[in-house]
Amino acid sequence: MDTEAVRVRLLRRREELQGRASRASADLRHETDPLSADFAEQVTQRESDEVLTAINATARGELEQITSALRRLEEGRYTTCAVCGGPIEAGRLAAVPYTDRCRGCASVEPGAPRR
Ligand SMILES: [Zn+2]
Repeated sequence: MDTEAVRVRLLRRREELQGRASRASADLRHETDPLSADFAEQVTQRESDEVLTAINATARGELEQITSALRRLEEGRYTTCAVCGGPIEAGRLAAVPYTDRCRGCASVEPGAPRR
């Protein structure tokens, strides 16, 4: 496996997510879009805040997974399933580069990301 290519891919994804999370945070603080004095407008803004909060949470969750994937890469454990210790399928790593479990474990583990 080309670990350098994987590392670059993870780092790019991390930058993208960090950008997205910080943009969402800035929008949530209404730095460029102050809360309107108009009540109906405020309702719309609060709805979009909820969406931004969700984007933020998703981006941060994935960021954590990417950070730990980069650490596993450094330690040579990147392709080893964290649950059963078996190899993680190459196709699965290509689809979900930050996963830490094989297809079998990902499908039995409750609450595990199925992406
Ligand atoms: Zn496994």
